[in-house]
Amino acid sequence: MGEPSVSMLEFPLKWTKCPACGSERALADMILKEEQAKGRMGKGLMGAVGEIVVPIADPRIAPTVVPVLVCIFDVCADCGTYYCRDANKVMGTPMPGQQTPARRPQPPFNP
Ligand SMILES: [Zn+2]
Repeated sequence: MGEPSVSMLEFPLKWTKCPACGSERALADMILKEEQAKGRMGKGLMGAVGEIVVPIADPRIAPTVVPVLVCIFDVCADCGTYYCRDANKVMGTPMPGQQTPARRPQPPFNP
């Protein structure tokens, strides 16, 4: 047995279906597309009702550039499930206080 595989994830990860009911309709995404159709929003944006930014930083080391996990959440238009639609890993500098996004709701844990 070797080391457990550490980084087998390929970002960005995307989930286009509700994990509860399988619907592809998500509220913020639908509203964004409506607004884009009316020309009030630019293309290339992503609808979201929540975003969680988690710097993967060792607090014992002075913050430099670290991997930052960015998760975009939306709500299923059919059953109301709050779920992650997009997860991406970017490189960034952790800001003080960014480790605990208290101003944003924590998503329910969906195994
Ligand atoms: Zn659903």
